[in-house]
Amino acid sequence: MDKEEAKKELESLREKLTKWSREYYVLDAPTVEDHVYDENYKRLLELEAKFPELVTKDSPSQRVGGRILTNFTKVEHEIPMLSLGDVFSKEELADFVKRLNENAGADFGYNCELKIDGLAISLTYEDGIFVKGSTRGNGTIGEDITENLKTINAVPLKLNEKISVEVRGECYMPKKSFVDLNKKREAEGQPVFANPRNAAAGSLRQLDSKITAERNLSIFIYYLMEPEKFGVKTQSEALKKMASWGFRVNGESRVCSTMDEIDAYLDEYQAKRAGLEYDIDGIVLKAEPFTVHELVGNTVKVPRWAIAYKFPPDEQETIVRDIEWTV
Ligand code: NAD
Repeated sequence: MDKEEAKKELESLREKLTKWSREYYVLDAPTVEDHVYDENYKRLLELEAKFPELVTKDSPSQRVGGRILTNFTKVEHEIPMLSLGDVFSKEELADFVKRLNENAGADFGYNCELKIDGLAISLTYEDGIFVKGSTRGNGTIGEDITENLKTINAVPLKLNEKISVEVRGECYMPKKSFVDLNKKREAEGQPVFANPRNAAAGSLRQLDSKITAERNLSIFIYYLMEPEKFGVKTQSEALKKMASWGFRVNGESRVCSTMDEIDAYLDEYQAKRAGLEYDIDGIVLKAEPFTVHELVGNTVKVPRWAIAYKFPPDEQETIVRDIEWTV
C-alpha cells in the first residue's frame, strides 16, 4: 500500500470511528457492535504505525473517550482518566507480558481483574465524606455527576475512615435491571437501550437524579489514586485497602505469577461470563507492583502497565440469549 492509498483509507476510518464514538459516548446509542469498532480501530492503528506522518491530532488514537455534555458542570481530572490498551488473542497477551517484564527488567505478578462493561467514574472523598463524582469524559475533563452518584446504594457517602482520597471504578447496570428497564421502555413505546453499558451511561448522565435513582445501577471500584499516601505498594493491596474503607470491590480478581495462571484465569471467566450478574467484555491485567507503573508510565491514551484482553464477539450473543431465557 502506498502513502496516498493509506491517506485515503485513514480518512475514511477516522470519519467512521468518530461517528461511532459520538453515537457510543455522547448519544449512548451505538449503531455498530463493539467488535466492528475494534476491528476498524485496529486497522487505523496499523496504518498509523506504518505511516506515522499521517497521524492527525483529531485521530481517535489520540483521544480518550468522547465529548463532554454541555449541560453538566465540567470537572478537571488532575490525573487523567485513561482508557486501556487491548488485545484479542492469548498470543498478543503473552507478548504484552513478555515485553513489559523485559522493559521493567524483572518478573512480577499481574493482578487479573474482570473487565466490567460499564462506564468509568471517579469518586472524591474529603475527610471520609463523598464530595465529588464525575465521568471520564475526554480523559482530562469529565462531567460532574455527584448528585446522580449519590443515588446509587453502592456509592458510600461516608467511609469507615476519615481519609481524603480519590478512587476510580466502573458504574454498571446489572443484567437483570437492564432487561427489566428495556421491557418497561418497550411497553411505554420508548426506544430500548442496545446493551447494559449504554443503559448505564444513559442513566448516569441524567439531569434529574430521580431517574438515575430508579435505574438500579451499581459500581465496582478498581483504582486507588496516589496509593503512596496510604503506604500501599501493589494493585491487589490497593483493592483490599479500598474494600476496608467501605468501597464495593469486585471479588473475582486474582494475582497470577505465570502465563499459565493468567490463561487459566481467562478461560475460567470466559466460561463463567454468562452466569455473572453483570456484563464483562474481557479481563484486565495490571502489573502488581506500583513501582512498575511509575517506571513505565502511560501513553497519551493508555497505561503501559496494564492491558485488556477482550473476549471474542460471538460470546456476546450467548449472553443476550441467556438473559432472555433466564429473566
Ligand atoms: P475500553 O472499554 O475498551 O477499556 C477501558 C475501560 O475499561 C476503562 O476506562 C474502564 O472504564 C473499563 N474497565 C472495566 N473494568 C476495569 C478494570 N477492572 N480495571 C480498569 N478498567 C476497567 O475502553 P474505552 O476507551 O472505554 O472504550 C473503547 C471501547 O468502546 C472500544 O474498544 C469499543 O469496544 C467500544 N466502543 C464502541 C463503539 C461502538 O460504536 N460500538 C464506539 C466507541 C467505542
